[in-house]
Amino acid sequence: MTKERVVVVGGGVIGICCSYFLAKRGLRVTLIERNGIGSGASFGNAGSVAVGHTPINKPGRVLEAAREMLNPRSPFRIPLRWNPGLIKWLWKYRSHCNKESFERSANALSSLGHATLDLFDSLVDQENLKCGYRREGFFEVCLTNNALEHINSDVRTMVRYGYSPAMMSAGELREVEPALKETILGGAYFPQGATCDPFRFVLEMARSSEKSGARIILGNEVTEVLSQDTKITGVLLDTGEKIEADTVILTTGSYSQRLTQKFGFHLPIQPGKGYHRDVRFSCEGPPPPTHTFVMSETSVYCSPMSGFTRFAGTIEFSGMNHDLNKERLNYVTNSAAEYMSGLEYSEVISEWTGLRPCTPDGVPCVGPVPGHSGLFVATGHATLGLTLAPITGKMIEQYVLGSSEEFPQMEALKPDRFM
Ligand SMILES: Cc1cc2nc3c(=O)[nH]c(=O)nc-3n(C[C@H](O)[C@H](O)[C@H](O)COP(=O)(O)OP(=O)(O)OC[C@H]3O[C@@H](n4cnc5c(N)ncnc54)[C@H](O)[C@@H]3O)c2cc1C
Repeated sequence: MTKERVVVVGGGVIGICCSYFLAKRGLRVTLIERNGIGSGASFGNAGSVAVGHTPINKPGRVLEAAREMLNPRSPFRIPLRWNPGLIKWLWKYRSHCNKESFERSANALSSLGHATLDLFDSLVDQENLKCGYRREGFFEVCLTNNALEHINSDVRTMVRYGYSPAMMSAGELREVEPALKETILGGAYFPQGATCDPFRFVLEMARSSEKSGARIILGNEVTEVLSQDTKITGVLLDTGEKIEADTVILTTGSYSQRLTQKFGFHLPIQPGKGYHRDVRFSCEGPPPPTHTFVMSETSVYCSPMSGFTRFAGTIEFSGMNHDLNKERLNYVTNSAAEYMSGLEYSEVISEWTGLRPCTPDGVPCVGPVPGHSGLFVATGHATLGLTLAPITGKMIEQYVLGSSEEFPQMEALKPDRFM
């Protein structure tokens, strides 16, 4: 019997995890990436496996966002510009910022969170992934009572969904992380979290996929998904070459609109732009931070990695562009200076921007494209792409092959829910 041929389009963390699980099951997998492995949003994110975190469509969030637009210290930004796609998306997002939709999204994300953390633990162990994985949870720290109230509410939601975060006093936080300033009011600890170097995770998973038989083609863009009647037959590359396949999985992140258009299927994804600045601390100054923490008011992550510290965050809906805005880059390190003393870095080793693929209900789109057998999408992971990558790979495995594990929340992620 000939083995099923699968093409995965996109070599970000989602595509690589899909390839890995399908190759492990013995399918003939070809992954096609137009640039390099992990060269999109997966390259420079904060590296936080942030399971159980509440979705972006919180009730009242629209009003809050409108207020934040007027605040230059806000991590959130929408430059005023005519963009009909974005206006439509914001309108849909607004309709999901209510209690019922929030609980639906939180329910889906939280149960996926438990499963994905188990998968991270076993993948790192079984595949011996050298990606600096530290299963030590992470912290959130606040300067204001308003932020403390927000965390308190998140903590209560997470407890309802089976997580065990705990509020912490300022003193307790400073004991853990002496670099934190006296002005910190308090925060929380999320024990069910982890940190890794996200790019190394993707590279290591790519290596494991190849070991299991996956073929990886780099530097070629997929320009069209080929079909006959309602059956998928392969993909067309920018070189004119056709690659035959029975199944095609689109894991193209923020760049997902074009390839589904031909099938009359519109994915409501908007790019949520973020930044990182990686630094090395001077040997003469105070010791660098040793724990991963989020600065609540600015939503900037401080993630210590091997040999450097990454400051990452901000979210800007400014359409499809990779312009490095110095002001936004400065924002990630300037806001860190409000929370930490002795922030004397001697060297900036990387400045980067990436586009998070965001859906209006804060939940990814994973599943079949309706009306065409053999075509699947796995995108829209927004702020949780690294976190949910292993479980997404497992869900795609389930769709393509049917596996022993069942994930009841797959229904909530079906891409046709927006139709
Ligand atoms: C500043 C920042 C911080 C973040 N922090 C975290 C965090 O701490 N934890 C977390 O879980 N998530 C975090 N995220 C989100 C996470 O990075 C994304 O959700 C995730 O990387 C999305 O992965 P992806 O594989 O879907 O997309 P991408 O990584 O963007 O990959 C898509 C790939 O598809 C390729 N491609 C597109 N079109 C084609 C085509 N036609 N042919 C061939 N190839 C194609 C692109 O070149 C790209 O490499 C953060 C994001 C940002 C920007």
